Amino acid sequence: MSGSTRNKFGFTVNRSRLIDYDSSDRLVREYITSREPSFRLCFACGGCTAACTAGHHAPFNLRRMNTLIRRGEIDPLRDEVTRCMLCGKCLLVCPRGVNTRNVVLLAAEAIRKLDRNEL
Ligand code: SF4
Ligand code: SF4
Repeated sequence: MSGSTRNKFGFTVNRSRLIDYDSSDRLVREYITSREPSFRLCFACGGCTAACTAGHHAPFNLRRMNTLIRRGEIDPLRDEVTRCMLCGKCLLVCPRGVNTRNVVLLAAEAIRKLDRNEL
């Protein structure tokens, strides 16, 4: 959607809310899903976020982190991955059996590799 964000239906799209999938970086998502296929099963119910130990003490939200990974929004993801305490509580509540702790570890690993041009 280049130029004006006003479309033929008469409403406008707030640019800060736009997700440009054509230019988003999918490398981190692909790195994670190839090593932890259970990540594909997440349906964003938020159970992990409700149970999260770190989320009770810091602005950390695992469901939001999963969404950032899917959208390829790497910059905000950098801060998110450092907040997880790797306690594993989220693993116990996930109804889809997503290995959430491994997803966090892989996300951190992928970002480190990305920064070193190894991805
Ligand atoms: S509890 Fe599992 S399915 Fe629900 S948002 Fe978290 S990872 Fe996704
Ligand atoms: S492993 Fe990380 S994301 Fe999961 S409950 Fe613990 S602090 Fe939260």
